[in-house]
Amino acid sequence: VAPQRQSRTNPNILITGTPGTGKTTTAEMVAVAAGLEKVVVGDLIKQRKLHDGYDEEYDTYWLNEDKVVDEMESMMADGGMCIDFHTCGFFPERWFDLVVVLRANTDKLFDRLEERGYKPNKIQENVECEIMQVVLDEARESYSSDILMELESNTVDDMEANVEKIAAFAEQFRQSQQQ
Ligand code: ADP
Ligand code: MN
Repeated sequence: VAPQRQSRTNPNILITGTPGTGKTTTAEMVAVAAGLEKVVVGDLIKQRKLHDGYDEEYDTYWLNEDKVVDEMESMMADGGMCIDFHTCGFFPERWFDLVVVLRANTDKLFDRLEERGYKPNKIQENVECEIMQVVLDEARESYSSDILMELESNTVDDMEANVEKIAAFAEQFRQSQQQ
């Protein structure tokens, strides 16, 4: 067990993936099933203005990574957090006990993003991001393979199985920390 984990009795879990893969829905269910506190980082960025302005072309905020990390540091200290964000490489590695990368097929992703009302250029950017497995590669570069979990999120059955798997990890983590 890495030194930073010895002080946590509850795990910190990151749920990442291309927009539309199911992070927020999954994180919400995981938070309930595993008794964790959910943080949707995109909402936090907006609420606490942890950004450097708005990009009109892509309808998105310019991420200020330092501000986000500073703001989240105290939240992560005691464990028990379920973090939802579409990029993952700038978070300190020591924060997380499990990093889940959700994956979805192109047709599913396209439909979900279109339903969300994304502009065509933003849909295309995200679909390409998923095909190129940008988030998965970033997670592999940033975290130990021991704590990485790549999960398909195409169907409701997938989602339920994923929530079960992640909740089982949290339970196992707590038991191992009690010994
Ligand atoms: P993200 O937070 O990654 O952008 P959401 O959780 O908001 O994704 O999911 C986007 C949409 O796709 C929602 O309408 C959600 O209900 C649906 N969805 C996500 N994952 C699945 C899945 N595994 N099966 C069916 N629908 C899903
Ligand atoms: Mn989301």
